[in-house]
Parts: sequence; structure tokens; C-alpha cells
Amino acid sequence: MDRKEEISQMRRIDLHIHTTASDGTDAPARVVERARELGLAAIAVTDHDSASGVAEAAKAGAELGVEVVPGVELSTDWKGHRAHLLGYYIDPDSPVLAPALNWAVTERIERNEKIVALLRRDGFDISIPDLEREFPDAVLGRPHIAEHLLLKGYVSSVRDAFDRYLGDGMPYFLPKGRIAIERAVALIRASGGAAVLAHPLQYGHDRKTLEAFLEDGVRIGVSGLEAVYSEHTPEDEALLRGYAEKFGLCVTGGSDYHGARKPGLEIGSGYGTMEADYSLLEGLKAARERVLLEEKERKGALR
Ligand code: AMP
Ligand code: ZN
Ligand code: FE
Ligand code: FE
Repeated sequence: MDRKEEISQMRRIDLHIHTTASDGTDAPARVVERARELGLAAIAVTDHDSASGVAEAAKAGAELGVEVVPGVELSTDWKGHRAHLLGYYIDPDSPVLAPALNWAVTERIERNEKIVALLRRDGFDISIPDLEREFPDAVLGRPHIAEHLLLKGYVSSVRDAFDRYLGDGMPYFLPKGRIAIERAVALIRASGGAAVLAHPLQYGHDRKTLEAFLEDGVRIGVSGLEAVYSEHTPEDEALLRGYAEKFGLCVTGGSDYHGARKPGLEIGSGYGTMEADYSLLEGLKAARERVLLEEKERKGALR
């Protein structure tokens, strides 16, 4: 088999996808339909601070024959750095996870209100009800505010909105509260899930800090590492696969699809070269089984 045939024989997957439940532009069912069109075997829906798209995606997956992994992406804090954490196989209705998701959403609501108040003070015609009308059902964030500024003609693009107004350090940027990573991992595990460090190269860590980050991750119960990612070069992927091996973490892969909000980025292939095979999902499933056993033991020990 040559390389081309080999790829076509792969059972491709994508374990990092956003929907309209957070800041993606495709509804959960549409994302599954797209995955079906592209011939993917499995996808995970991983919205920011929300598992509310999971049920719709799972239903569509059952109808269309695409395996849907329930997921979530939490914005956490590791020693003052941001760290995105993916939770796979979480129970979307988990009473353990719900307060953390609610807290994160409340943080966002308060932050959005403050950002909008600052913009209004300076004469921008924007309001929270405007945003809610434009993006019903979404957990609102800066991308939505940016698009609204574009719609109103204040900026030439979403990028322009971030560059001039909303990006980190810009006049209308406000930080939002982040849950400590060890707490987030504990909650994901307690709600039946396995925790995975998302795009670990996106935080500007040098090698030493990255290794400390991964080492800490292992210590607090993280199961995996997103080595396969739309923005990774082959060198990035090789580096992270090496680290996964070294630290005993499973490797996951996903595009971080956001629909029209990340133009040029497709489900299952990222910017064209991402390859995530079903074997990654098998590794994740095995890791999740270990979490379930460990959690059972932990609960037994507590009794
Ligand atoms: P938030 O979660 O509200 O802080 O918004 C973060 C999201 O904004 C990220 O997931 C990106 O999708 C988007 N974003 C951040 N910086 C930029 C930028 N410079 N240009 C376009 N989108 C950005
Ligand atoms: Zn996003
Ligand atoms: Fe992320
Ligand atoms: Fe993401």
C-alpha cells in the first residue's frame, strides 16, 4: 500500500470541535453531518465551558453512524499561565461538573457586561441584548463581541477588532477567572471523564516550563496530550509524541474546528495536513477506563 492508499484506509477522527453551544458557527447536528460527509469515523464535541451541544450531536451521530464522544474544553490556570483542558467522556449532565461550568459561564457573563459597558461609555452602539439576539444559545465571548463590532462597521474584520480593541492587553480586554487546573482535572475525573492537555504549544512555554507543565499534569491525574493538532508542524507533533511517551500520556488529535470563525480549517484535516487515526481514540478509551477504575478505588478508600 502506498502512502495515499494508507491515508484513505485510515479511519479518521477529530477530537476537538466547537459548535454554536460556544463559539463555533455550526450547530452540533451540522458538525456531525459534516463529519459524515467527510467520511470520519468519530468526532468529539468540545465546547468552551459548556456540554450543552453534546446531546444534539450524540443524537445526530446515532442517526448518521458517526461515533460522538462527549467532551468539553475548560479554561484553566496552571501557575498563572492559561491552560486549556479537554474533558472526554464526561457526563454532560453531571452534577459534579455543572457548578464549575456555571461558574465559568457566570465569569464570562460578568466579563461581557463589563466589556460592553466600557465600549458603550466610549460611544460604541452595542448592548448585551443585541449580542443575545445575534447569537442565541451561545456561551458568549470575545469572538461574538468582535463580530458584532464588525456588523456595526466599527472594525474591518474580526482580527481588526482583536488587534485594536479586544485582544490581550488592548483597551477593552478584561481577564476572566480561570479554574485551577488541578480542580478542573479532579472534576472531569469525578464526572466520569479523562482529562487531556489541549494544544500544549500554544502557551509560549520554553522547553523546561513545558516539561514542568506536563509533569504536573501527570501528577494531578491528566490522561493525555493533544499532540495531533491543526496548527502543529510535523516537528511539533514529533516533539509532543515524544513527551507523551516519556510521561506515559495518551496522544489525542483534533482540529479545533470553529466553522466560519476559523476560515480554512476543516473537520478531520485542519488546514489540510492533520491526520488523526481511530487508534488515538482507542488509546483515549483505554486511558478513560483506567480513570474509572482509579476513581472507583478513590471513592472506595474515602468510604
Ligand atoms: P474568550 O474565550 O472570550 O477570551 O475568547 C477567546 C477566543 O477568541 C479564542 O478561542 C479565539 O478563538 C479568539 N481570539 C483570541 N485572540 C484572537 C485574535 N487575535 N484574532 C482572532 N480571534 C482571536
Ligand atoms: Zn473557541
Ligand atoms: Fe483551546
Ligand atoms: Fe478549542
